[in-house]
Amino acid sequence: MGRWSDVRNQLLTVALLFLHNNRMDDVKYIAYAIPVFFVLIAIEWLWTRDKGNYRLADAINNLSCGVMQQLTTLFMRTALFAGYVWIFTSFRQFELSMNRPLVWVVCFLAVDFMYYWFHRLSHEINALWAAHVVHHQSEDYNLAVALRQSSFQGIFSSFFYWPLAWIGFPPGMFLALSAANTLYQFWIHTQAIDRMGPFEWLFNTPSHHRVHHGRNPIYIDRNHGGTLIIWDRLFGTFQKETEPVVYGITTPLASWNPLWANFHYWVELWQSARTTSRWRDKVRVFTKAPGWFPQDMGGFKPPPPVSHVPAKYGPELTPEFKIYIWAQFAWLVMATFVFLFQFQRYEWAVQASFTLWVLVGLWAIGGLSENKRAFRWVELVRLLLWLPLVWPYFSFAWVWGPFAVLLLSWMTLLRPKAFATA
Ligand SMILES: [Zn+2]
Ligand SMILES: [Zn+2]
Repeated sequence: MGRWSDVRNQLLTVALLFLHNNRMDDVKYIAYAIPVFFVLIAIEWLWTRDKGNYRLADAINNLSCGVMQQLTTLFMRTALFAGYVWIFTSFRQFELSMNRPLVWVVCFLAVDFMYYWFHRLSHEINALWAAHVVHHQSEDYNLAVALRQSSFQGIFSSFFYWPLAWIGFPPGMFLALSAANTLYQFWIHTQAIDRMGPFEWLFNTPSHHRVHHGRNPIYIDRNHGGTLIIWDRLFGTFQKETEPVVYGITTPLASWNPLWANFHYWVELWQSARTTSRWRDKVRVFTKAPGWFPQDMGGFKPPPPVSHVPAKYGPELTPEFKIYIWAQFAWLVMATFVFLFQFQRYEWAVQASFTLWVLVGLWAIGGLSENKRAFRWVELVRLLLWLPLVWPYFSFAWVWGPFAVLLLSWMTLLRPKAFATA
């Protein structure tokens, strides 16, 4: 008994020291987990392949949104976190020690509680939904959907955690626990795990979160919890998985463009605000719940029954095309992964040009997945852009080697006749 508690205390001390001394930030926590994510996605794909849970273009689109979010977060992170640190240093009410396990437990509950409210309001207020919608656009449900994240949601979510800084939870503790909250939510995006018995009473599980991603009218705006499901049970937003889930949003995105995924709802809100005539309604378009429309635009539109759901979006692609898209995407992901770990070594101009190059790449891959011929030329421009963007910073071999491979694959795989005739 005594030996076990010694071991436990030592392990706890090591863990706390590690978190304390490594000055890890949330981007790094997530970046370290990326290889694990990809291995688990591959395993799930092999495991459930015959069930059709994965479609290539959908998975690539999910991961494209994830890559984009990781890159945009790099640029916004310092600004977003500055508010927390400022409130903590200037206004904190209590001196809470990083060495006390109880403080960690309370902070964990507080982070999870704030996450619940942020997530719930993201479903109940249009301006917040405009960012969060990205996570819900996929019509599939698998581990790749977990990485489908909005590039701009962090701007809104950061304010929700400021009360924790005011109370006095140290910034390092907050970052570690909010990263843990994000990491926990990865594994629940799966159809491979059915029900989980008593575990479901307290914790968020695959079954609970499938409900959250459903567009069935009874599932809309339910189960907003992060790690725990108790907040939904307490505040009346809990729903059990009772009927087969139809995934996605009520008006399908019908696009593989990750940039459009991030902006389309803003555009729709803006158009509604312009269309309606009363000033009060122009503002209410942004503050009311999704589905709300002004009287002069026909009023509330309830979610349609799932019996009227159209077939999943996804143009046909030729095998050559699939190979090209896969290979280009894999290469972009690997380059981004390396970049995430080294970005502090580069000057701002390099960071910006690399990010721009990846974004154009994701946009091109999205357009090609939609079988759009014009994107053949976008793709060529992207390949040529590699030279001026990367030339000044890398060695001869690193510039010309990849360029030759890219150009060759463009010429062989993206021939005009490789396009499927729609
Ligand atoms: Zn959600
Ligand atoms: Zn989710």
